[in-house]
Amino acid sequence: MKEYDYLIVGAGLFGSIFAYEMNKIGKKCLIIEKRNHIGGNIYTEEMEGINVHKYGAHIFHVNDKKIWEYINQFADFNRYTNSPIANYNGKLYNLPFNMNTFYQMWGVKTPQEAKDMIEKQRKEANITEAKNLEEQAISLVGKDIYEKLIEGYTEKQWGKKCSELPAFIIKRLPVRFTFDNNYFNDLYQGIPIGGYTKIVEKMLEGIEVKLNTNFFDDKDKWLNIADKIVFTGMIDEFYDYCYGELEYRGLEFEEETLDMENFQGNAVINYTDSKTPYTRIIEHKHFDNAQSEKTVITREYPKSWSKGEEAYYPINDDKNSELYNRYKDKADKEDNVIFGGRLGMYKYFDMWKVIEVTLEAVEAEKNR
Ligand code: FAD
Ligand code: UDP
Repeated sequence: MKEYDYLIVGAGLFGSIFAYEMNKIGKKCLIIEKRNHIGGNIYTEEMEGINVHKYGAHIFHVNDKKIWEYINQFADFNRYTNSPIANYNGKLYNLPFNMNTFYQMWGVKTPQEAKDMIEKQRKEANITEAKNLEEQAISLVGKDIYEKLIEGYTEKQWGKKCSELPAFIIKRLPVRFTFDNNYFNDLYQGIPIGGYTKIVEKMLEGIEVKLNTNFFDDKDKWLNIADKIVFTGMIDEFYDYCYGELEYRGLEFEEETLDMENFQGNAVINYTDSKTPYTRIIEHKHFDNAQSEKTVITREYPKSWSKGEEAYYPINDDKNSELYNRYKDKADKEDNVIFGGRLGMYKYFDMWKVIEVTLEAVEAEKNR
């Protein structure tokens, strides 16, 4: 008999939901977390009466009602609609790409005029089947929007040429022929009132959590403390990089408290040129209309990632996906280890998807 039923590595969304569900059916869980707080990347902290998203803007959005109801048991959500603005060399454009953007870019006033312009630019670029992000973007919105609103931002974000990136990344963004600046197409969207950390605190009520504890600092001890391990860190690190290193993208957040009420008038402004070193500035109070005489902003700088640093984005191109599949084959043969979340499953997951895959993992466990 081991001391715990489950050792859960990582107190992010995956680890916390898994622990919550297992605790509910009487399983004894221990969570270890290398950071000094719970919540992983959705962690928020109150500063100046404002909930600050410490690891970048987090907007909850989902189409699936069951997942919306699931997360709503832990918090009430406001009715925030994300409508970021793009700043290209000082000129502002609405996002995602919609009739407002097309009007600002070309002066076109009807959907047909916008479609004709995009079609003309797509033909000029001679694209029949989009093989990469550059071609996909030009076929969706034309060359002008690609050059001003996509190319610089994307190459900063990923550190690679758009022609070397997979097309699916840009398909995350809606393209609309209506005057609608809602960044997401999902039915449900909002920000939890009181911040995301409260959600995770609720999930972890009554569950033992050890912070500042890295699995790899005492791997043998942790491997033997529970009947099963749920691992939400990097899958290649778990296997000591035996097949080679997966690539990740890093980020740096520069936070500033300003002695003014309103800095930029919107929660998210993207800087889409290639020279500005950051991709976006977030002004946190606009996520939930926080009343404060001060404001807190965060500049988000993408950067290359190297071992030992915080990994933020998996890079799901062909080369890395192939390597990940080798790790996954190994992981599938494990009886006592479950890999979960963005790093354990090496997938560019939004929060709703993490909830979905965690609940699937919980169901699979219950049925074993
Ligand atoms: P994580 O949050 O990364 O949690 C993993 C945890 O494991 C971390 O706390 C980590 O410290 C810990 N850990 C790792 N290795 C070890 C170890 N060896 N020992 C102990 N602990 C370890 N999603 C949306 O739906 N909407 C958004 O607007 C949105 N914006 C985002 C913006 C940014 C900048 C980023 C990076 C992500 C965004 N996401 C967004 C995605 C969202 O953050 C993830 O879907 C979610 O947080 C993933 O949860 P997770 O548990 O898989 O991973
Ligand atoms: N993107 C862009 N310009 C923008 C915003 C996004 O080119 O102003 C592209 C970029 O390639 C990015 C992708 O669209 O990686 C997906 O954007 P999203 O906002 O979903 O990125 P995330 O918030 O997950 O970093």
